[in-house]
Amino acid sequence: MIPSILPTYSRAPLTFVKGEGSWLMTDDGRRFLDLGAGIAVNALGHAHPALVAALHAQAGQLWHTSNLYHIPAQQKLADLLVEETFADTCFFTNSGTEACELAVKMARKYWHDKGQPERVEIITFDGSFHGRSAAGIAAAGSAKMTTGFGPLLGGFTHLPFGDHAALEAAAGPQTAAILVEPIQGEGGIRPLPDACLKGLRDLCDTHGILLILDEVQCGMGRTGKLFAHEWAGVNPDIMMVAKGIGGGFPLGAVLATETAASGMTAGTHGSTYGGNPLGCAVGAVVVETIADSEFLEGVNRKAGLFRQKLEALIATHPNVFEEVRGSGLMLGLKCKAVNIDVVNAGYDAGLLTVPAADNVVRLLPALNITETEIDTAIDRLDQAATAVAG
Ligand SMILES: *Cc1c(COP(=O)(O)O)cnc(C)c1O
Repeated sequence: MIPSILPTYSRAPLTFVKGEGSWLMTDDGRRFLDLGAGIAVNALGHAHPALVAALHAQAGQLWHTSNLYHIPAQQKLADLLVEETFADTCFFTNSGTEACELAVKMARKYWHDKGQPERVEIITFDGSFHGRSAAGIAAAGSAKMTTGFGPLLGGFTHLPFGDHAALEAAAGPQTAAILVEPIQGEGGIRPLPDACLKGLRDLCDTHGILLILDEVQCGMGRTGKLFAHEWAGVNPDIMMVAKGIGGGFPLGAVLATETAASGMTAGTHGSTYGGNPLGCAVGAVVVETIADSEFLEGVNRKAGLFRQKLEALIATHPNVFEEVRGSGLMLGLKCKAVNIDVVNAGYDAGLLTVPAADNVVRLLPALNITETEIDTAIDRLDQAATAVAG
């Protein structure tokens, strides 16, 4: 008999009922150090007092009005994002996959309105993940996500990750946009080197192509800058944001330049819940907190410390781990053992990590994890690796 919850997830036998900072408590009283953060969502940990206060304050005033009216909290968040980023304008969604839908629509509408309606192709890369909507799975294109769901949305060209020649050959006057994650998350913490992101920007400029960055997982301070592309010193035309921006409240956004967004006039797109007062009130506190230079310095300092300790851990367990990769507090342990075994052994040691493709274990802690908690994480990873090594 089908369970009352559609069984699309295989879940670990853990039920959490309370969270505090980087810790989660189960219904039977066990405490877990959380290096998953709800898949890079709880950027400021669980039950952060400032986020709880912002949500409570808004909840006591007004929950929802729809976008038929002006929403002060939405205006505040949009102004903040425009101030802190390349963007001139923002549209708010409830998730990353909805941000993908708009990014695709925006790129196509741009070319339509420029009198080149045939320019619809969007180039994407193997191993990418852009969400589970019809556009999201067509964009990523993997058999795992698309099989059985045809006919798929057309107009996506999938290229091998890191194949520069294939990219040069595929990009041309039919290309509307290139869509890429600066660091692939689900794909196994595979960073696009800064030089490649610069190269992509140049290629886009040569052909007039729009560059869409999916920073749903790598954005919002995770790499030690507010957005990952800042490390490469290049800007996108359109950017997808979600996960960390709501700190656990469902919130996403598409950020864009005025030019890239020029086709999106009144009536061309919408969302009932998108940008609602509750999500935006929380989002504004998240953005204000993370965009602070001292906060980001702390992320970089802790990331350096964590990475150094992980390198030592790998040296201690050469049969379990191969390498650590990623940037900031978006780290991946490429395993020699089976990654799921490491994740499961972590559960026994009171540690939550997240598996990813390419036999990787993801470490995506809250950005305000403490140095003491990083030491605890290393101890528990050591226990897990010892158990896996047998
Ligand atoms: C999680 C994720 C998405 C989809 O976000 P949802 O909120 O799950 O719809 C899209 N892109 C990337 C890079 C992601 O990590």
